[in-house]
Amino acid sequence: MTESAPIGAPEGMGCHSAADMAAAASAAGNAELMDRFKADYPVGPHDKPQSMCPAFGSLRTGLRMRRVATIISGSACCTYGLSFVSHFYGARRSIGYVPFNSESLVTGKLFEDIREAVHEMADPQRYDAIVVTNLCVPTASGVPLRLLPSEINGVRVVGIDVPGFGVPTHAEAKDVLAGAMLKYARAEAEAGPVQAPVSGRSDRPTVALLGEMFPADPVMIGALLAPLGLAAGPVVPCRDWRELYAALDSGVAAAIHPFYTASVREFQAAGRAIVGSAPVGHDGTAAWLAAIGEAYGIPAERVAAAQNAFLPAIKGALAGAPIKGRITLSGYEGSELLVARLLIESGADVPYVGTAAGKTPWSAADRDWLESKGVVVKYRASLEDDLAAMEGFAPDLAIGTTPVVQKAKAMGLPSLYFTNLISARPLMGPAGAGSLAQVINAAIGNRERMAKMKAFFAGVGEGDTAGIWEGAPNLRPDFRAAHQKKLDKAAKAAKAEEMI
Ligand code: SF4
Repeated sequence: MTESAPIGAPEGMGCHSAADMAAAASAAGNAELMDRFKADYPVGPHDKPQSMCPAFGSLRTGLRMRRVATIISGSACCTYGLSFVSHFYGARRSIGYVPFNSESLVTGKLFEDIREAVHEMADPQRYDAIVVTNLCVPTASGVPLRLLPSEINGVRVVGIDVPGFGVPTHAEAKDVLAGAMLKYARAEAEAGPVQAPVSGRSDRPTVALLGEMFPADPVMIGALLAPLGLAAGPVVPCRDWRELYAALDSGVAAAIHPFYTASVREFQAAGRAIVGSAPVGHDGTAAWLAAIGEAYGIPAERVAAAQNAFLPAIKGALAGAPIKGRITLSGYEGSELLVARLLIESGADVPYVGTAAGKTPWSAADRDWLESKGVVVKYRASLEDDLAAMEGFAPDLAIGTTPVVQKAKAMGLPSLYFTNLISARPLMGPAGAGSLAQVINAAIGNRERMAKMKAFFAGVGEGDTAGIWEGAPNLRPDFRAAHQKKLDKAAKAAKAEEMI
């Protein structure tokens, strides 16, 4: 379970050969799994991940849970990258790794090795659960994690497949693990009494919250729910196994992030109602409180009282922190539509919102609201979509993923990285209203500085000047022309061969 010399994905097979890998997985006994992925996370114009490896989402979710061990089964290069990113983002725990080579993969020895590793790790003193994750190659090869024992010495074993060719974003991979854990916990709760969460049970009916949020947001949501006689339940993905039971025990699950398809399925199987959207801004909070009230059968006047208690404060906060300017917005967190609502209510002109997440019923209210304001909403937006929107709408500020921000900088356009700068702020209720203005207005105000930098660096690091040069690049257009001729000739020959 430490280092060895595993093989990488077969040549040309990995993140960038999604169709081949998916076909291989189906042929290797994973057809049902691939169909489930297709239904849960339908792909968009591109069938391969355009951001980081999806497994990072589930890995991070598992690593943040108390008393949960993590084992990866996958190519060494993928595992290296995933463990590097996990530790870069502050994982305090080791990641178990079961290496393989071509032989152990085809003979089934890899599965035996995984089973042995799980047995070795299953110490009830240390762990409530062990999560085993198949990355791309073991999934494509059909390594059957479902055949692992479901429990060893009281330690639960949860096996999941998180291939880049079935799970399009790392956000949705969080749902793969959360859904698998909820399924396990639901079966336990159905079989008999289960433990209460460490923090105790709420004395009021609760609303479970789906989606990783800024830490103050669940607290704010709790305050919004209090006048309805309700309380905020656990946030899923949970931090503790016992919270899963408390989440399932909530009468309503709020799909704050709308892409938790597998988790929603478990809540629905437990007979829970699902409420989409979130209490963001004035209109969003009003509609969300009404929807929660309806799901819990709370009298209209009590809902109206709760709305009256918060909406004026939200309006005041929005008015006190106005945003002026045109903003294009894109990201892969799943909260893009919510942020766009807040920006528009703060006064910004938002012509485009792109989200790498797919379309589900749980963001329909946000989409409708945004479209009624003339916003183009693009689900499963590709990087190309986001860049085209940024170039086409010529915004004062582009909020996006790393490559979008990179391009914006090259264009001399103010930009903000969605994940680090926008997701790290409260969005809900009165605390969220106005929380974005400071960072956004400061960024918009940087336009002149960006133009100066663009002018200063003009021509550096582009075309012939890319790379490190001590003097002027030694240009040889004659060599270049001769080489181009060779390439054209080879291309012609290849074409002729194709036609024979
Ligand atoms: S596991 Fe992740 S990094 Fe490795 S091939 Fe699959 S998607 Fe790419």
